[in-house]
Amino acid sequence: MKIADVLTELDRLTPFQLAEPWDRVGLQVGSASADVSRLLVVLDVDEEALDQAARRGCQAILTHHPVIFQPLDAVTDAESSGALVARALREDVAVISAHTNLDKARGGLADVACALLGLEGVRPLEPAPAGWVKLVGFVPADELDTVRAAVFAAGAGVIGDYEHCSFALPGTGTFLPREGAHPTVGTVGADNTTDEVRLEVVVPRSARRAVLDAFVAAHSYEEPAYDVYPVEDELPTVGLGRVGYLERPLKLGELAATVARVVHLPSVRVCGDQERRVTRVAVLPGSGSTAIPAAAGVADVLITGDVKYHDADAAARLGLALIDVPHEVVEGLALERWTDRLGDALGVHGVAVEFLPRIERLWSFVSARTPQVPHLGVDDVGAEKSGNVFELFVDGGARGNPGPAGIGARLLGSDGEVTEELADYIGVATNNVAEYQALIAGLEMALDHGVHSLIVYADSELVVRQLNGQYKVKEPTLRVLYEQAQRLLRELPDVQIKHVPREQNVEADRLVNSAIDAARPRR
Ligand SMILES: [Zn+2]
Repeated sequence: MKIADVLTELDRLTPFQLAEPWDRVGLQVGSASADVSRLLVVLDVDEEALDQAARRGCQAILTHHPVIFQPLDAVTDAESSGALVARALREDVAVISAHTNLDKARGGLADVACALLGLEGVRPLEPAPAGWVKLVGFVPADELDTVRAAVFAAGAGVIGDYEHCSFALPGTGTFLPREGAHPTVGTVGADNTTDEVRLEVVVPRSARRAVLDAFVAAHSYEEPAYDVYPVEDELPTVGLGRVGYLERPLKLGELAATVARVVHLPSVRVCGDQERRVTRVAVLPGSGSTAIPAAAGVADVLITGDVKYHDADAAARLGLALIDVPHEVVEGLALERWTDRLGDALGVHGVAVEFLPRIERLWSFVSARTPQVPHLGVDDVGAEKSGNVFELFVDGGARGNPGPAGIGARLLGSDGEVTEELADYIGVATNNVAEYQALIAGLEMALDHGVHSLIVYADSELVVRQLNGQYKVKEPTLRVLYEQAQRLLRELPDVQIKHVPREQNVEADRLVNSAIDAARPRR
């Protein structure tokens, strides 16, 4: 098979014209006339993908994320995209991209993701415009078959899986040929009537010229009459995102757990009341915040990735719950499944198709409750309860109030050895919120270790006095955190909270700073 034939097959499975205007799809590197017998499917083209293509003898790579997305000013190895393009050319590996067209296509990534989740009654969240015009032509009854065959051959009359779609209605045409005309039927200078058929077909915009030329050429009249109408049709099974139904309503929290299981992750992010029952589920693999307004009208929850704070806030206001799964996880899983489909389509032409999963996962998940030092085994817990007094140092801080904030907690055993340390970035928060978050995380850590007797040290006078009942908690945000901390404190049989000066809390402070530093975007 030639690369050009692969492109034709891809265009059938995942029409390139469906891609968003800003997207880059199709053949990006290499020659359409090159031969191909092995194709490697990847989420991203990187050095590993090129290594694997070489090792497996693949002459072409199909990538979901375009290898050239921003226009390149130069192709040099000084820039990562340029270096990959140069290497692909050097090693004679063609690179084809199928991106937003693959997201939208029937049976594409969004449909695969819905199938993985077992959704029913699935349809596009934002149906794609059909991108066709309607040709209405008037044809002598005995020429109907010829003209119809000509326009079909030029690309007219395709609706979904159906070809040769048309409609014909008999009627009467009238005309008066002027001096100089050469009518095929009728008389010059006289009113004529003739039996004609009104023929209607849809025509892809891209085939408009070819179909009109074919219509005129097949028609016997000197001046065939026809009209081209714009139509606003949408494709019922193609478009951005999908919405479908769960077989039975689930609590949002249950659905989130199901999603995590399906994508093999320990957890996923959820925005919304986890007790709320949900039935209508919108899905947009990859990065889908733009679909929030559309999903809010038709779904209870949107499953997507890369959701930013303000987008989540907007969704909450619209009453739309969110389940945020890392962009590359859903896409990788869906792409792997879709590769089977492509393999079937190309396999009959002798082209082998393989999928290369990402070796390294970009994100991993660390729970605040996961000890970073060996956890005490079940047998050790008894020892904790025998009166050993643990010490917990907590600190939270924000750079700016509010500002980027972090929390630190340090649990020491009665021997003074560190049992566990925790440093976590919590996003933008106030100092007081960070102090409370640190305390809560620290108390959870102590409870996880089965601690019985605990002394908590914090350098926030406000937090210590509030928890000891000396200050009232009026601020609603702090009130929630205060109550959460109190609940945890009640779980500890023997606990006291003490205020320490900052100088005696430097280790916890160090953890706060390391968490904020680690979270700052690097340039
Ligand atoms: Zn993506």
